[in-house]
Amino acid sequence: MDKLAITPESPLSTLPKAAPQRIALHVSRDGERALRSGHPWLFDNSIERQSHAGKPGDLAVAFDQKRRFLAIGLYDPTSPLRMRVLQHGTPATLDQAWFLAHLQAAARRRAPLLGDNRTTGYRLVHGENDGLPGLVVDRYAETLVIKLYSAAWIPHLADLLAAVATVQPAQRWVLRLSRTLQKAPEHLYGLTDGMLLMGLALTGPVLFLENGLCFEADPIRGQKTGFFLDQRENRARVEALAAGQRVLNVFAYNGGFSLYAARGGARQVASLDSSRPALAAAERNFALNQHLPTVAAAEHQLLAGDAFQLLAHLQTAGQHYDLVIIDPPAFAKQQTEVERALSAYAQLTRLGLGVLASGGTLVLASCSSRVSSDAFFATVTQAAAQAGRPLHPFAQTAHALDHPIGFAEGAYLKCLYART
Ligand code: SAH
Repeated sequence: MDKLAITPESPLSTLPKAAPQRIALHVSRDGERALRSGHPWLFDNSIERQSHAGKPGDLAVAFDQKRRFLAIGLYDPTSPLRMRVLQHGTPATLDQAWFLAHLQAAARRRAPLLGDNRTTGYRLVHGENDGLPGLVVDRYAETLVIKLYSAAWIPHLADLLAAVATVQPAQRWVLRLSRTLQKAPEHLYGLTDGMLLMGLALTGPVLFLENGLCFEADPIRGQKTGFFLDQRENRARVEALAAGQRVLNVFAYNGGFSLYAARGGARQVASLDSSRPALAAAERNFALNQHLPTVAAAEHQLLAGDAFQLLAHLQTAGQHYDLVIIDPPAFAKQQTEVERALSAYAQLTRLGLGVLASGGTLVLASCSSRVSSDAFFATVTQAAAQAGRPLHPFAQTAHALDHPIGFAEGAYLKCLYART
């Protein structure tokens, strides 16, 4: 199915169109500076005057104090992030051809992944970092998941999807909506989180490959778009460290790191998570890969509960592991949460070391966008030193190929590898 046919029953057929007239925004000096530096966001408090009111998805043009063109983007009156920039410096016509060019550029950046038939799950569009702000497109084999973070995309969805169909043909498209969007049905024109936009109905999870391992993802109900695609490269590194080891995977979700460790020859793998459905999925993911002798040979254990409590219990019980992976959810999405996040990373470092055998390996990741990698690495190494278990870091990693960093706020993932 490589061409888009919008039938009268399609949810796409009743979506509004953007207004033909563009909104002129006259921006403050701060706003001008941000836009001239290539920043993809214009906040409401940087707008001094505007030509007329608009609705989400209307096109807006930002001008400096001398009425010179700065940028064009998607207007969103429902958000303090009032315009998401589509193009800096020169005007653009936002049509299928524009989308096509940007999607093709995104695909080119991922060429090594797209040509690798051992990996059929990856991120095709990573929002601002790919010049398509507020939009994520993930692929799981024949299923594409389109995730919107702004109602401003809705009037452009049909054009966008027509371009997607050309660049990445798929059998089905699923729509996901950010939490903020889900709370504003008045701007959604009948679109709902998890709805099928096109193609074959989905009755259960979809299967896809990551570096030759088979995983299930639930694009309709799963966290993010169904899987944490951003950890692919860290998982591969863990595989290379796992031979003969007793491994503990904390915040395991559906067992990504666990399965790689098992394929890498781990003796035992324990997957710890507070979500029982996630652990049940981890068990199914192990079952999907039993044809691999090392996976079949590894003993897989599930530990359900709160990571902070369970790690303390495991330590009291005298449990030890040779390789401990800790990949928690984001602790700081706002600046005010940074201190608390850093103290949680320090606490997890102490707890992880409490169950790590002497000479063992600690892998600790952070996906908190507000926590810088310097602050994260310093906090973790300091906490370990204070606990009398100084770390010997041997790798610090960042973003995978399909999660490029296009602006400062786009850098969120960091991972420390250390021996003790
Ligand atoms: N490491 C995973 C992704 C982790 S996402 C991967 O490679 O795919 C974060 C996970 O932490 C989620 O599965 C969530 O259920 C779990 N979680 C959140 N808070 C928790 C807590 N306090 N204790 C244990 N698990 C928790």
